[in-house]
Amino acid sequence: MLTIPDFIDACREKGLNVTYQRIMIYKSLLRTNNHPTAEAIYHDVKAEYPSISLATVYKTLETLAEHDLIGKVTPLHDLARYDGDTQQHHHLVCLNCRKIMDIHDEQLNQLNLPRKNGFHISSYRIQFEGLCDDCQHRSNGRLKTAGGKEQTTFCGKGA
Ligand SMILES: [Zn+2]
Ligand SMILES: [Zn+2]
Repeated sequence: MLTIPDFIDACREKGLNVTYQRIMIYKSLLRTNNHPTAEAIYHDVKAEYPSISLATVYKTLETLAEHDLIGKVTPLHDLARYDGDTQQHHHLVCLNCRKIMDIHDEQLNQLNLPRKNGFHISSYRIQFEGLCDDCQHRSNGRLKTAGGKEQTTFCGKGA
């Protein structure tokens, strides 16, 4: 994650205008590691900046994601979730409460990548799906999966 001065520099390098709104939205994303939706960020920013609109927040997030200044995560979710952490990392996704947790693991970053049909893999992100600690306990020991089963999805599957 970038500090605010680094973020401002990165925006300028990419030819993006540095607006107060963009900084507010980025700051909001830096404050959390729970991969919020555009709407959650909107509610957070609105507290300090009441005139901001959801459309602006959404558009800003999409622009920042297009320029790789933030990440975008959409596992099992109808709504895009955004990620202030643009370093390579992986996600644990709870099938019940849809919580997303980060995993930074050098070993997962060093998988032997498949070579097939001349396809060049430039990046990958592994999404582990299952039940978080809270949900396992909440269902009183009985595994409750919302329409899914425990599974692992490899975006760039290791050999
Ligand atoms: Zn959960
Ligand atoms: Zn993440």
